[in-house]
Amino acid sequence: MAKKSHRGERLGEEIKKVVSDLLLRELRGPGFESGLITVSYVKAADDGGFATIYFTALGAEPEQVIDAFEKAKGFIRGEIGKRLGLRLAPDLRFKPDLAEQYGQHIDTILSGLDIPKDEGPAGREASLSEIAEVLEAYEHIFAFTHDHMDGDTLGSALALVLTLRELGKDAWVFADAEPPRSLAFLPSSVLALPEAAAQIVSGLEAAGEPWLAVAMDYSGTDRIEGRAPFFTGAAERICIDHHVTAVPEGDLYFLDPAAAATAEIVWRLIQEVDWPMNEEIATAIYVGVVTDTGRFQYANTKSETHRIAASLIEAGADFRMAFSEIYQKVAPEKLIVERAMLSALELFADGRGAISGVGQDVLSAVHAGEDETDGMSEKLISIIGMKIGVFLRELPDGHVKVSLRSKDPFDVASLAAEFGGGGHMRAAGFTADTSLEETREILKVRITALLGEKP
Ligand code: 5GP
Ligand code: MN
Repeated sequence: MAKKSHRGERLGEEIKKVVSDLLLRELRGPGFESGLITVSYVKAADDGGFATIYFTALGAEPEQVIDAFEKAKGFIRGEIGKRLGLRLAPDLRFKPDLAEQYGQHIDTILSGLDIPKDEGPAGREASLSEIAEVLEAYEHIFAFTHDHMDGDTLGSALALVLTLRELGKDAWVFADAEPPRSLAFLPSSVLALPEAAAQIVSGLEAAGEPWLAVAMDYSGTDRIEGRAPFFTGAAERICIDHHVTAVPEGDLYFLDPAAAATAEIVWRLIQEVDWPMNEEIATAIYVGVVTDTGRFQYANTKSETHRIAASLIEAGADFRMAFSEIYQKVAPEKLIVERAMLSALELFADGRGAISGVGQDVLSAVHAGEDETDGMSEKLISIIGMKIGVFLRELPDGHVKVSLRSKDPFDVASLAAEFGGGGHMRAAGFTADTSLEETREILKVRITALLGEKP
């Protein structure tokens, strides 16, 4: 899909020189001085509209470095414009170089775990206005939520679909299952589960109508297991995501690891092209932001996140309903899962690691879904002195869903990537095909090594 353009390549090289020089001479502050920051490559759009700067950060937190870059963005763009003689310097985005991160785990890769080391995104990075143009070009659009639905994947997919409906499109949220109870208050009439979606798709195919697929809050088809053929079968595919480990599988993608939630990106998209906003759209985006920031608690929360939340409330987001449905209604079954989690809790690595798991014996007896297991890993990481918390839940097929949380400076996104999953620095996950007990033992050994000696 991606066309090679010499102009983009040349511009990328030039920008790399400028930013490398600025890092050496001009850029100061904690984000830049906490480690060794180098620009590994720059991917510039053919039309010079924007460029993505991939960096490696030795001894520094990638998220802190992104923050520092974001703050200095105006200055950097100014310098690029001046030094390269551009009337309009490209808009800039900053991303950690994942190939480098994977490189640091080369031993694990070689020991047989299949992380694609050199595999880059298959598609082409696009600006939000370009994505809007593609969305506008299609009449039939499916926004895909990822398996094990959460508030951000559903909130962002719903917000996009409701907006597209306002624009008169035939748009659907393509979900693997009904939303969990805590999210069931969101509009459900635009939801298509696999059976219904298959019917819509076969109707479109019979009529020779092309349709567009949009991945919301994930990038790889491994996260839409049963629905992957639908995604692959679309006329065109877009990925909109904020996971630091994302390797998009579509034709076009917009990735921003600095965004607190994918819903935040949807908000920006709507603002960028001045699409309509209403109470339902605002509530859906609000839910994505609130759930992915843990109610504005996690380090991904920025002043911008609060500004977006404020504008959503002004647009009529029903935040009282959202908080009440998501956080103030606990099913008794959840307490049973929590009791099982506490009784299987094990602290290790001098109290810096916590791990617990709950099996199908308990989970199926109480019909536990996403709601009943949600928040368990947060409980583990909130233990004083804890650095990495792991919650394991056995799935009906015997596989184990692993939920990882960490505290500064431990990076669970890379840890999850070692096992074929992904996520964010402080919250990540993967599905293991080992048993509950085996997974527990493997992770204890790996995490003990990762935590190293107690300082
Ligand atoms: P949670 O522990 O809340 O299920 O997930 C934490 C974070 O890790 C979320 O951002 C989620 O998208 C990501 N994550 C969880 N499981 C997987 C997985 O199997 N693959 C990938 N790529 N990311 C995951
Ligand atoms: Mn998300």
